[in-house]
Amino acid sequence: MTAQADSTVDLFVIGGGINGCGIARDAVGRGLSVELAEMNDLAWATSSASTKLFHGGLRYLEYFEVRLVREALIERETLLRAMPHISWPMRFVLPMHKDMRFDNDTPTSRILSLAMPWMKGRRPSWLIRLGLFMYDNLGGRKILPGTRTVDLKSDEAGKPLKDKFAKAFEYSDCWVEDSRLVVLNARDAEARGATIHTRTKVLSATRTDGLWQIEMEDVETGARRTARAKALVNAGGPWVADVIQGVLKQNSSAGVRLVRGSHIVTKRLFDHDRCYFFQGEDGRIIFAIPYQEDFTLIGTTDQEHTNADEAPACTDEEAQYLCDFASNYFEKPVTMEDIVWRYSGVRPLYDDGASSATAATRDYVLKLDDNGAPVLNVFGGKITTYRKLAEAAMAKIVPFFPEAKAPWTAGVAMPGGDFQVHEVEGKIAALQSRYPFLTPAWAKRLIRAYGTEAEIMLGDAKEAADLGIDFGATLTEAEVRWLMEKEYARAAEDVVWRRTKLGLRLSEAQIEALNAHMQAARQKASA
Ligand SMILES: Cc1cc2nc3c(=O)[nH]c(=O)nc-3n(C[C@H](O)[C@H](O)[C@H](O)COP(=O)(O)OP(=O)(O)OC[C@H]3O[C@@H](n4cnc5c(N)ncnc54)[C@H](O)[C@@H]3O)c2cc1C
Repeated sequence: MTAQADSTVDLFVIGGGINGCGIARDAVGRGLSVELAEMNDLAWATSSASTKLFHGGLRYLEYFEVRLVREALIERETLLRAMPHISWPMRFVLPMHKDMRFDNDTPTSRILSLAMPWMKGRRPSWLIRLGLFMYDNLGGRKILPGTRTVDLKSDEAGKPLKDKFAKAFEYSDCWVEDSRLVVLNARDAEARGATIHTRTKVLSATRTDGLWQIEMEDVETGARRTARAKALVNAGGPWVADVIQGVLKQNSSAGVRLVRGSHIVTKRLFDHDRCYFFQGEDGRIIFAIPYQEDFTLIGTTDQEHTNADEAPACTDEEAQYLCDFASNYFEKPVTMEDIVWRYSGVRPLYDDGASSATAATRDYVLKLDDNGAPVLNVFGGKITTYRKLAEAAMAKIVPFFPEAKAPWTAGVAMPGGDFQVHEVEGKIAALQSRYPFLTPAWAKRLIRAYGTEAEIMLGDAKEAADLGIDFGATLTEAEVRWLMEKEYARAAEDVVWRRTKLGLRLSEAQIEALNAHMQAARQKASA
């Protein structure tokens, strides 16, 4: 099943978000020949705009989404082991207060309002403890510690909070660098034989002689190309329905529900490394998470979004909502002036007819159309379940490829992730001792981004000057070259907002200089 002389591939994947790249990696590792096209940069859409948690989703238990929560909980440690550089355990502090209420749409709140009407929609602490007990035990934890009760009057986590918060529960989930996860999946897929095209839009896909004929356009040059494939995956995320109708020219009743979620980033609001899980009086929850060493990430919102082509943006209203929500907890109010960056993404949820955006299912749905050459349309999903989603997608595709190998991705390290979860600190120290010119923060950033590949990137450098141009904030020419040659980066934006988050530290002028350098490097390479 290797690429054939007539350049027909087994599987063509539309979309370079986490789901497309995860499926491409899984498929190529099973022996299928694979091609993927992404119309912009990898992960430029939803997969770089998440809250960046490998989590079971505590609040989904209220919706009885036990299958999804269980799968995601188990998956956390599988993923953590495969990528101990870009993912790490985190503790979440959930302060208790009598005014925290349910979303009155949840099945749990409906049952409770019948059984205990005097609660008037309040979430009792025993119920949260019960939820956390399930959370601890559904997912077979080996690495992550379980829930504990925290006395906020004596624990450091209580310091930045208002006096009225005396008690909290603390539980485990994991952090992941979402956009790096996508790129590493693409790189690994390519290393195993897949072809990855970025800035390449799929214009049409038609069934011809039992195959898919796919027309693509290089969005930078306008050059067009045709590919043929035995099977197609539509992992278009927010554009999944547009691809079905506009690219495949099919009518389908399956719909996508676009739900926008926004985050704000402020200067660091507290001094410890745990996150907060805040419950609101409106039944929603938000997180306040230590971010990129010097910042705090706060999110998210849930807003209906009508058109995938309308770029999602965090409105002032959403930003104010997040400030007000967090200010109900923090002693020092969070204001709009504290915000240094905002971002927004669109959840491509399967439209299950739920009444509110908050209640719409976060589970994934795979729709196979084998009325001719097969196409699999992917709806919904979470970063956390991308590998399981890819396995489920392959279960639907392998019947068309009898020689395809068995599932293989569980526990297989991502590029740079070939070490144990507990070895991170040692890796950072070892990198600093081999390259003494690195500051501790610089060494940590490189290990957290590139893992064991950081040494390959730094090569024989004896001093910082050996890494070429210094673009600021520890970004060097050597790193930019690595990102352009190995990680599909083409413009400064790819580097400063997706391969790294150095956009938080670089000035506009520095980003412009980086962009000019990258354009010149591309021109030189193509000449
Ligand atoms: C605010 C928010 C917070 C979230 N937080 C979490 C979290 O903490 N944990 C978690 O597990 N999940 C989280 N999620 C969910 C998760 O981010 C998404 O489920 C996931 O990123 C979706 O990935 P995707 O590949 O389906 O979509 P995308 O990342 O949007 O990728 C789809 C890609 O398809 C491309 N495409 C579309 N049409 C074409 C075409 N014609 N030709 C070529 N390319 C095309 C697009 O350019 C796009 O890059 C969150 C989501 C949001 C919005």
